[in-house]
Amino acid sequence: MNSHQFINFLNSLHKLTKDQYKTLQSQLKDTFAQPNLIFLNLQKELNDHPECPHCQSDKIIHFGSANNRPRYRCKSCLKTFVCTRGTEFFRLHKPEKWLGYLQSMCQSQTLEACAKECEINLTTSFNWRHRFLKMASIDQTNQLDGIVEADETYFRVSEKGSLKLARAPRKRGTKAKTAGLNKQEWTPVLVAVDRSHHEMDFILNKVTSQEIQNKLQGHLSPDCVLCTDGQNAYNQLCDEQHILHKVLSGHQVIDKTFHINTVNAYHSRLKNWHRRFHGTATKYLANYLGWFRALETQKHEKANVFKLLALQQHSFQK
Ligand SMILES: [Zn+2]
Repeated sequence: MNSHQFINFLNSLHKLTKDQYKTLQSQLKDTFAQPNLIFLNLQKELNDHPECPHCQSDKIIHFGSANNRPRYRCKSCLKTFVCTRGTEFFRLHKPEKWLGYLQSMCQSQTLEACAKECEINLTTSFNWRHRFLKMASIDQTNQLDGIVEADETYFRVSEKGSLKLARAPRKRGTKAKTAGLNKQEWTPVLVAVDRSHHEMDFILNKVTSQEIQNKLQGHLSPDCVLCTDGQNAYNQLCDEQHILHKVLSGHQVIDKTFHINTVNAYHSRLKNWHRRFHGTATKYLANYLGWFRALETQKHEKANVFKLLALQQHSFQK
């Protein structure tokens, strides 16, 4: 279009009907929108590793489009699907804002701040947060090596957001009646870390030998050295699995090497970080633990972890 034509085009804009104006607006938006990295990645995944989300067949073909995105059809079960099917992005609106939102989560922003930053409402912000946190909550290392430290920490039980409270409502900021061990008031979380910044955490129903053993089973390399405060559960675990066990109290350090300071420092960073949310519902605790884990990984790997998680979505669902 030459400049004369362009001026004519601009001069004729006032003649557009309301519908024509809206069509033009959305056309402009689509034409100049940045390619959505998440969609591109999910599409690439499907091209490289075809798999039907309904029946897992690899016989899939392109089948037109839906909402300007390619659609696929499975030749085995004949069902059609889009690339977000089976991922946390399925049926989420405003895809152009996802990466911005993940970026806000990397900065540990509150629900309100994320909503404001991305110009979405609070309900959407809440839904997105927990969808995206699910990705983080299942992303956990599988094996701890070398010197491993394990200890429990406790989170206060909260029914925040629940319409039916199983107990009398509590004023925010009040002290729990008992510290530790009371299942009604505290949720125990077992954290185990090695010195290569690998971290695993597990929400426990109860701090029992059996439960601690079940959680750690298979995650400790056979030649690791486990440092703990000497709870019976750890003694039994180490005896059974022939793992070298160092028992330490408080800030004690043996041979300048063995201590439980790393895991306790992790606990206190986690607690400090969690405080900004002014109490989160216990049913979402795993999501928040995953969020913090992702942030800690980010510190060491110097990468935008939530973006990576988002881009790995497809493989996560398998
Ligand atoms: Zn299928």
